[in-house]
Amino acid sequence: MVLTELGARLSGALVKMSKSSKVDQDVVDACLKEICTALLQADVNVRLVKQLQTNVKMSLNLEDLQSGFNAQRILQKSVFQELTRLMDGGKPWVPKKGKQSVVMFVGLQGNGKTTTCTKYAYHYKRKGFKVAMVCADTFRAGAFDQLKQNATKARVPFFGSHTETDPVKIAEEGVERFRTEKVDIIIVDTSGRHKQESALFEEMRNISEVVQPNNVIYVMDGAMGQAAHDQALAFRDTVDVGSIIVTKMDGHAKGGGALSAVAATRSPVCFIGTGEHMDEFEPFEAESFVSRLLGLGDFKGLMNKITDVIPEEAQEEMMEKLSQGSFPLRFLYDQFTNIQEMGPMSQVMSMLPGMANMMGGGRDKESAANIKKYMTLMDSMTTKELDNPDTEKNMKMLSETSRINRIVRGAGRQYRDMYELITQYKMMAKMVGKMKQMKLPKKGPVNAR
Ligand code: GDP
Repeated sequence: MVLTELGARLSGALVKMSKSSKVDQDVVDACLKEICTALLQADVNVRLVKQLQTNVKMSLNLEDLQSGFNAQRILQKSVFQELTRLMDGGKPWVPKKGKQSVVMFVGLQGNGKTTTCTKYAYHYKRKGFKVAMVCADTFRAGAFDQLKQNATKARVPFFGSHTETDPVKIAEEGVERFRTEKVDIIIVDTSGRHKQESALFEEMRNISEVVQPNNVIYVMDGAMGQAAHDQALAFRDTVDVGSIIVTKMDGHAKGGGALSAVAATRSPVCFIGTGEHMDEFEPFEAESFVSRLLGLGDFKGLMNKITDVIPEEAQEEMMEKLSQGSFPLRFLYDQFTNIQEMGPMSQVMSMLPGMANMMGGGRDKESAANIKKYMTLMDSMTTKELDNPDTEKNMKMLSETSRINRIVRGAGRQYRDMYELITQYKMMAKMVGKMKQMKLPKKGPVNAR
């Protein structure tokens, strides 16, 4: 995952600070310095890092920090808030059912624009929208065939031409056709170039004028370094960029360049691309993203995933239980079963607190193997052990040596595996405890996007 290394370094710096016997200004400064160095080395813009450092410093009160135990939490909260502020461009535009919209995609060649158009179409098609795609990229040979192939795979109607060379004409005709066909979301894929050039910007402006988009989405490669900043600004200054989609967030790039570009444009990120496949696409929320970055998990994102695969009736019961703070071990077992159906394991795992590392650093095969391991252990538990709703009692139960011996032997696993499972259960139970104060919908998807 892009930014994985940064995330590990940020949380590492905070953990290191929490281990100091006395928290004074020097310890805080050293921790903050480590955080800033990590951000700079991940390609985050210098000015943004300086700003973050100043804001965090201003928000801290050394007396509060000296209480020792809370120091890590206070600094973590402040860093969390600052990073969230950096990534938060406000609420992105969302299509509405019953209202026809044109969404135009722009970006440089190779950034993942055509792939993302299909992911976007597929995402909203699954949500019950009538969608269609128009290929207004006449610059790149094969662009229409690529879009056609993707659209066919996603079973989405498309429009384009092998012979017409004027992209503005194609865009106009395509949008017109789908408007009369009462399509809800008409997606217009425009051409990209290897670098910014005036011809590209001129073409973008002309297409925008004829199709009158309700939203322009700028597609940016998450692996792009420092150059991302200027590029994003150039696009924003040419067409009215309404939101951003950052692609290739599954790679191993440093990612700070994209993060800085998002901050510079102040446009909201609406989705991120996390793989080459159609369903490797997630709605973006700054808080959830930063939470995952700092290894704190993302309960809301997980809930969105779960609501995608669980039937609506079952969702209601689950939400009810969770909102009462009840978390039997069977529930964890059921969630593991759901997770196996949810697709890209590493994507789901990173939403669980502390799980990304435990699950093999985002490698899908390893993650799947770990889940199986935990489920085998739970298979060797009694019904009473699995179904007790009281988390406190469960924690006590899981600290009894004779019980642990029985479970580990019964499952034919290692003690190490059992301790991993217990750690995971404790972390999730703690989050569920916090959910008592959270307002969760009783049914339907948590996130409408
Ligand atoms: P375009 O030139 O901007 O239209 O880019 P394409 O859609 O043709 O994508 C360029 C390459 O990036 C293709 O090989 C895609 O499969 C790949 N790609 C697009 N989005 C993602 C993503 O989120 N993750 C990964 N790993 N690859 C992606």
